[in-house]
Order: sequence, then structure tokens, then C-alpha cells
Amino acid sequence: MQNDDVRLQLMRQFPVEVVEARDARNEMYYACPTCSRPVAMGMDKCSGCTQVLSWKNINQGLSENGVRKAVLEFEVASDFNIGNCRKCPISYIGRTDSGSVYECPLKMSGSCRLKLI
Ligand SMILES: [Zn+2]
Repeated sequence: MQNDDVRLQLMRQFPVEVVEARDARNEMYYACPTCSRPVAMGMDKCSGCTQVLSWKNINQGLSENGVRKAVLEFEVASDFNIGNCRKCPISYIGRTDSGSVYECPLKMSGSCRLKLI
């Protein structure tokens, strides 16, 4: 019996993904995977059974409006400035009635959100 307790204690130190549950009013809440008690968002440990919690998968789907962020890293010339589509390696030439323009494949022309690092 004693050994089982120690084993349980140890197992609870490994993060386990929280589970989504629904209450009587059908509202979603997060629950401890070990004891099923409700846990507050982002809590790193269940206050009931001390199970260490992981929010990895939950956080991925949870971003506002279901939108996730992606980061793309690429090289630019040293004289590139933010918003300078002409010097941006990912821009391409598009045609308009008044001639050709540099188009941004990320539709950021005029509101470039690139960050130089
Ligand atoms: Zn718990």
C-alpha cells in the first residue's frame, strides 16, 4: 500500500494534459485528468490531487477565433526596411491597370508586420 502511494505521487509529477469537460449547464470547463476536479485555466498543478498539469494541446486550439500564429523566418538584404516590398524577397510582381506593383503574398502591403531580428 505504501509503495502504491509513492508510485502515485511520482506519477503525478509528470505533466498530464488537462481534459475538457462540460457542466450541468453544458458549459465547458477544464478538469484534472487524474481526479476530474475542475482546474482554473493555466494552472500548473491540480490543487486537489497535486497532479502536474499540461496545457499544450489545449492552448493550441484555444487562440481567439480559432486563429493560430505562425512564424516564418527568412533572410532579407541588409538595406531592407520594414514595408519595403521592393526589397522584400517574398514579394512578387503583380499587374494592375496602372502597371506592375510589388505584391505581398501575406497581404501586408502598406501594413507590413515583419519584424527584423
Ligand atoms: Zn486532480
